[in-house]
Amino acid sequence: MLKELTEVLQRVAARLFNEGVELFIGYEAGSLPAKARPLFATRQEETAALIFDPFCVNNLVKYLARHPNTKTAVMVKGCDAGAVDRLVQERNLDRSMITVVGVPCGGMLAREKLLPDLPADVRIELAEDRGNAYMVRTQKGEQVFDKKSYLMEKCLTCTQNNPAGADLMLGKEAPPVADQSRDPLQEVKGIETLAPAEKAAFWDRLLGRCLRCYACREVCPACSCTQCCFEQAVPGWQQGATWLSKAVTLAENYQYHLVRAFHVAGRCAGCAECERVCPVRIPLMLLNKKLGKDIESLFDPTPPDAPTALYTYSPGDKDDFS
Ligand code: SF4
Ligand code: SF4
Ligand code: SF4
Repeated sequence: MLKELTEVLQRVAARLFNEGVELFIGYEAGSLPAKARPLFATRQEETAALIFDPFCVNNLVKYLARHPNTKTAVMVKGCDAGAVDRLVQERNLDRSMITVVGVPCGGMLAREKLLPDLPADVRIELAEDRGNAYMVRTQKGEQVFDKKSYLMEKCLTCTQNNPAGADLMLGKEAPPVADQSRDPLQEVKGIETLAPAEKAAFWDRLLGRCLRCYACREVCPACSCTQCCFEQAVPGWQQGATWLSKAVTLAENYQYHLVRAFHVAGRCAGCAECERVCPVRIPLMLLNKKLGKDIESLFDPTPPDAPTALYTYSPGDKDDFS
């Protein structure tokens, strides 16, 4: 854990219980090294287990909709915060029931990059943010990990590591973490230059390995429907037939990914949770970023509290959709 931030966090969370909060959604240490897991504290005593460290990757906003009638406080990093705004705008969350606790973030260490460079059977005792690097102390000693090499990809292009719109912020503002030499859209732009057949081969290769486990949907705060269209029965078809069969075929994988990408287009918070949980490592952020890029170039900018471009329909729209 990051000692100072964790101490502030525990104090703030305990105080919020005195102020009427009934549930605090935060992080606690996981049972595996370099992993934190969500903590749902319903009593003040439980706040002593809360932590913040460079392994608190989960976007906890997803859990808010499960507790609509509970006064809830939730920890958000910069890349999680947009999800609260969207869900409130879409009337999926009642903002008056939520206390958003913002965490200044120095970036998350990518577990798959870190573990090979840590000794086996390691137990992480402490992490310390040293600006360009994290010091990680284990029972076997201290190691320093340079952020450029060990942060998650999303952090290396992050420009929002101090969350906007929080009701209260923990600790001091964090310095920028983005690697200025990286263009967040570089890969997307590269794919755009491919010939159609090359693009098709690229996506066939990636989407062909999708298992349709739906983990990317389950973790996504923008996937907020209580019943997913892919599991709905098709009216008039034989009993039990759904819009998408259980068979994993390339055509149906495309159907799933394209429909999902459009459902979250303009509403995606950019938390990259969909990509993180994918068991077969499909770089889903490529699709999310491409849709975001196109929306930005094709639609007029929408004010921050207005419905997003693809979430609204107006018969008086100046463009022709026929
Ligand atoms: S993307 Fe930004 S806010 Fe999110 S974990 Fe990385 S540095 Fe923190
Ligand atoms: S998490 Fe990965 S494998 Fe599972 S449905 Fe999503 S893209 Fe496919
Ligand atoms: S589509 Fe992915 S990046 Fe966007 S909000 Fe959902 S989980 Fe986060």
